[in-house]
Amino acid sequence: MADPMTDSPRPRAVLAGMPRYRPGRPPAPVAGRAAYKISSNENPYPPLPSVLEVVRDAASRMNRYPDMASVELREALAQRLGVGPDWIAPGTGSVGVLGQIIQAMCDAGDEVVFAWRSFEAYPIVVTVAGATAVAVPLTADARHDLPAMAAAVTERTRVVLVCTPNNPTGTCVGAAELRAFLAAVPRHVLVVIDEAYVEFVTDPDAPDALALLRTHPNVVVLRTFSKAYGLAGLRVGYAVAHPEIADALRTTAVPFGVNSLAQAAAVASLAAYDELEVRVKELLAERSRVEAELAAQGWVLPRSQANFVWFPLREDTAGFADACEAEALTVRPYGVDGVRATIGEIGASDRLLAIAARWRARSR
Ligand SMILES: *Cc1c(COP(=O)(O)O)cnc(C)c1O
Repeated sequence: MADPMTDSPRPRAVLAGMPRYRPGRPPAPVAGRAAYKISSNENPYPPLPSVLEVVRDAASRMNRYPDMASVELREALAQRLGVGPDWIAPGTGSVGVLGQIIQAMCDAGDEVVFAWRSFEAYPIVVTVAGATAVAVPLTADARHDLPAMAAAVTERTRVVLVCTPNNPTGTCVGAAELRAFLAAVPRHVLVVIDEAYVEFVTDPDAPDALALLRTHPNVVVLRTFSKAYGLAGLRVGYAVAHPEIADALRTTAVPFGVNSLAQAAAVASLAAYDELEVRVKELLAERSRVEAELAAQGWVLPRSQANFVWFPLREDTAGFADACEAEALTVRPYGVDGVRATIGEIGASDRLLAIAARWRARSR
């Protein structure tokens, strides 16, 4: 008789040691306090009425499979970005597209270089695909160390991920340093520029990734509808890439992965971008207010180019997050690195600023 314990199906050994994606928690209720979740970089605004209307209409046909090729969405994006539809590869959020990229490019043991700390999905997606994660520490001022990342490229490297603005530190790479990086990296290495927060970038020195894509066939630009467009719950993002790469990404996509409601909402959101941009501008004004207040309190933080701020609190990380949680404010702590707090509702920012002021006063 077989031993049921030793003969049972076993997941791959690599999964046991893998980090898990930790979603932002909803805040625990505190009596007399509105609760705010500023731990997932979500857009605080409800869906636009015009987008909701299109999604309702699409829902009436959900007995049918979605358009597997996302033709309408790809055409709308192509028109907006000034490329052909064959340059667009949609996926279930840009995390889904990132999985398609690694699966398209990497055999077992191939290396993927990225900065750390950066987006927590990177090591997970890379490891699940059977590739090897190579993490290159950020600089002391929480920026990508692009020369060190270029130096980390080996014969096994197939992909480099550049997250700009970087989640969770909010910093952008500079246009000139990115150009120098692209010149240093071998042309057979795919360079993925993850621009999940590009709509929040105001720094004139930030790179124009789409322009770099035109001159560098090894560049892929990754974008999402989850942040500025406010469609996080629908799961839709896309890569912009040269047609041969985009075709490979469509090949490794889950068939029918981008559902019909997401496709419809994304197309409607592109059409309504003027309205969405008003909201983005309001979030940018709120980011400026929060950054100015924190600076006045004495905090020295990296300048944010995204819809969140980064507190490099080191060993105080958990304590600060607990102080927020005690006031029904959920922020996102990262080990002994720091805390990320999303720019969302004004009430949430006000509470964050009050807690931050007390923290400064206490630790002086
Ligand atoms: C939020 C985020 C994404 C987008 O995730 P979706 O899967 O599109 O919701 C991608 N990259 C980074 C760095 C992010 O922070």
